[in-house]
Parts: sequence; structure tokens; C-alpha cells
Amino acid sequence: MKITDLLKTKEVTISCELFPPKKGSELKKAHEVVRATAALKPAYISVTYGASGGISEHTVDMANEVQNVNGVTALAHLTCASSGKEKIHQVLKELKEKKIENILALRGDIPEEVDFPLPNQYHHASELMEEIREFGDFCIGGACYPEGHPEAESIDADLDNLKRKVEAGCEFLTTQMFFDNNILYNFLYRALKKNIQVPVIAGIMPVTNVNQIKRITALSGTILPQRFRAIVERFAHEQAALKQAGIAYATDQIIDLIANGVNHVHIYTMNKPDVAGAILKNLSEIYRAE
Ligand code: FAD
Repeated sequence: MKITDLLKTKEVTISCELFPPKKGSELKKAHEVVRATAALKPAYISVTYGASGGISEHTVDMANEVQNVNGVTALAHLTCASSGKEKIHQVLKELKEKKIENILALRGDIPEEVDFPLPNQYHHASELMEEIREFGDFCIGGACYPEGHPEAESIDADLDNLKRKVEAGCEFLTTQMFFDNNILYNFLYRALKKNIQVPVIAGIMPVTNVNQIKRITALSGTILPQRFRAIVERFAHEQAALKQAGIAYATDQIIDLIANGVNHVHIYTMNKPDVAGAILKNLSEIYRAE
């Protein structure tokens, strides 16, 4: 099912995210994670592509496992900063063969110490989206940044680029993680003022260990509210307590979002079905997975 249709038919959706293994030998274990996540019946499951400027050989396999083996709609990420057009075309063909209809089209992080873009590369996610649109009948999503993309001159300039992305064929947006819902509400208001009308899916990251927090702040510079920092400081050395508090914090954010009319939430579950399951259990009377 196309994600845009799914968002139209269900009032509230909660989706999950997985990342593929680096090595083929780890696929069997990864398939178990897919099975456990699919058993939670999220609206769809997204599968990331590479990371930190890399490519991924197993995203299509994992998306196939999500959709064609476990029966949950898959959203395959695809980045273009580390691939030429030929590689992109090859992945598009593979996705089409597996009947994966949904793609989250991204530029990706620019790999260090390489010239970017080379003549056979797309500069921005919007160019990749134009190509995907020409390629065929895919439902295309993209990323957005409530606090502004780190490379952008300003939030306003970033929103102008986001508008270009939507005009290039982006049909829905998933946000970068945020830990203060007011940042999202402010972003939604500014996006509407720019006449960005596509559905925005709020990305929530349940933080369950200290290393994750260090990585998040180093990579995205996300604002960590005082309430969140107090939790981390208090439970930094008590792994199980931090996990419980991280699940509670994410649950709280999601309840506030739904209460305020943000009905589509994506949980960055990071291959942790137990964390996703705990959040969905906390929401059992608020969100019923089908
Ligand atoms: P773009 O939309 O191209 O934007 C990048 C920068 O260029 C922004 O500053 C933007 O303002 C600017 N820009 C855009 N268009 C123009 C234009 N026409 N003219 C001038 N400037 C422009 N990374 C991975 O490697 N794999 C993944 O699977 C992955 N999944 C992600 C999922 C989500 C929901 C999010 C939020 C991020 C994800 N990322 C992933 C990280 C992402 O690839 C990086 O944040 C990357 O730096 C930007 O990608 P983008 O698609 O947002 O780029």
C-alpha cells in the first residue's frame, strides 16, 4: 500500500524503523528483528539505507522481508550522496521487482574527503525525487528538520528548500528527531505559512542508553530540553532505569502529539522491538494497531 493512501485511511498511525546489517552473514538475525517488529503491527516499517555517507546492499532485502514475508507495508530509504545514477537506477529496479512502492528519498550525508557532487550524481534529495518520479509509480517521501538542517543558512532558507523538495514530487515528510514538541508545533506552523501542505510524520527517538545521546547530539545538534537532561543525568549509570525513563519520555511525547492533532508518528526503533513494544503497550488505549 502507498503510504499516502495509508495516511488517508487511518486516523492515527504509528510506524517503526529498522536498519539493515552491514554483512550478508548477519541477515538471518536481522530477519528475526523484522519478524519481531512486524508482530507489533505498526502501520509501516521503514528500512534505512547506509549511514554517515555509506551505501547499503541489504535495504532491499530487508524491505522485502518486511513487506513480502511479514505482510507489513515497507518504506525503503534511498540516499544519493554516495552513489552515482547507475547505482540508484539499479536499486529502483530491484525495488520495483519486489513491489516495494514507498521510498524515502534522501541526499544522505556527504562522505568525507570525496568530491561531491560528481557529474553523475544528484546534488539534493529533490533531484533524486524528480528521477524517481520519472522512473515510475513510487510513493515518494522525504526528510525535514524542525530545528533546521545543520547545513542550512537558517530555518527559513531550509523551509524554502523543503518547498522545492515538495514541488519535486515529495508526497510526505518524516521529521528528524526532536525532544521538545513545541519545536515541532512551531515548525508545522512555519511550514504551513510556506504553503507546504503534504502530511508530516513526527519522528520520535526513544533514548535508552547514554552512548545514543552522545551520538545524537554530535550528529544533529538536537536541542535537549532540561526535563530530558535531568532524566539522563539521574539515570546515566543505571541502564535499565534509563531505558524505562526513555520509553516513558517517548510515550509522553507521542501522547502530547496525538492530543494536539499530530496523528502520524514514526518511532526510530533502531532494531529494538522490545522498546517499540513497550511504547505501544503504554499507548494501548490510545492507539490500536490493526
Ligand atoms: P536535502 O533535502 O538535499 O537537504 C540537504 C541540505 O541541502 C539542507 O541544508 C537543505 O536546506 C539544502 N538544500 C536542499 N535542496 C536545496 C536546493 N535546491 N538548493 C540549495 N540547497 C538545498 N541518512 C542516511 O545515510 N540513510 C538513511 O536511511 C537516512 N534516513 C533518514 C531519515 C530521516 C527521517 C531523516 C530526517 C534523515 C535521514 N538520514 C539518513 C540523514 C540525511 O541523509 C541527512 O540529514 C542529510 O544530511 C540530508 O539529507 P536530505 O535528504 O534531508 O537532503
